[in-house]
Amino acid sequence: MKIKKETPEFALINQYFKQLTNPRQDVVLGVGDDAALLQVQEESLLVVSVDTMVSGVHFFEDVSAEALGHKALAVNLSDMAAMGAEPSWATLALTLPEVDEQWVAGFCRGFAELANRFNVSLVGGDTTRGPLSLTVQIHGMVAKDQAMRRDGAQVGDDIYVTGTLGDAAMGLRLLESTQALTAAQQKLVDRLERPHPRVEAGIALRHLAHSAIDLSDGLLADLGHILTQSGVGASLQLEQLPVSAKLRAVMGDDLDWSRLVSAGDDYELCLTLPAAGREAVSAVARQLSLPISRIGSVEAEPGIRCFDKQGAAWHPPQLGFDHFRTS
Ligand code: ADP
Ligand code: MG
Repeated sequence: MKIKKETPEFALINQYFKQLTNPRQDVVLGVGDDAALLQVQEESLLVVSVDTMVSGVHFFEDVSAEALGHKALAVNLSDMAAMGAEPSWATLALTLPEVDEQWVAGFCRGFAELANRFNVSLVGGDTTRGPLSLTVQIHGMVAKDQAMRRDGAQVGDDIYVTGTLGDAAMGLRLLESTQALTAAQQKLVDRLERPHPRVEAGIALRHLAHSAIDLSDGLLADLGHILTQSGVGASLQLEQLPVSAKLRAVMGDDLDWSRLVSAGDDYELCLTLPAAGREAVSAVARQLSLPISRIGSVEAEPGIRCFDKQGAAWHPPQLGFDHFRTS
């Protein structure tokens, strides 16, 4: 016979996770049984991705629980965006050093706000004790022939990035070095702690794009994955890299290419598209009120070649990016 004990974990699940997000019709059975039952659309592929965030490795221990709840889901939604998938369901594995209800409530607020914004249902998870760590698995759907993969870039494609580059990395630097943040600096920290996954852009561009990736490790490293997996190379026009007014204000005119091309944590999309798609991209950018900048083109020769405004080749000082080569 199974004896039911009202453990704190059990109470937490009932109180916080059972009804955390808005229901979806395709969730036949959500939190509360041994597993969730989900109705998959017939003509779609199920798209699955998982990411773990560990205290002290992926975030500072004193970061707000609400921001963590947001980010743990956001980085997963960003993977859906990069595939052109519509996110639908999430599971959450939480490892907590202790049951701190205030912390859990904050975490749930951040998680639920973002989940509901993208119509994602929390359908299950696991709650254990140990050093703080958060794992979110995300599920989404995409029509069979519309997924954006890393291996589809073609010679002659334009290369685009959404949003702006380098804000989150600057936010991280500010957190590490500055005690009292100005309002402008805090905005950069917000970009680090509350990335906006580009789900709408992924969906709007999936018909057009040959390949896509989301930017978590920096432009050169992540674009490098597309190029390597597609068996091609690229040239980049550095002056086309999109920089936010916030970052310009904090950094001044002293724009540092090396930081911009290696800055992580932006969770913007990098895509390649045939040149025939230029007007369509502009239309999507207008419709979403999101800058989508053309920063270079795909070439047959492997490696990434960067050029400044005058057309002179520029080589990043610190090499060692995966897949990075210059000629
Ligand atoms: P089991 O022993 O079968 O794994 P659990 O006690 O771990 O069951 O979980 C009970 C139910 O609560 C399951 O449906 C599980 O998916 C859900 N659950 C547990 N932890 C979480 C969580 N952190 N977020 C969402 N659902 C959770
Ligand atoms: Mg379990």
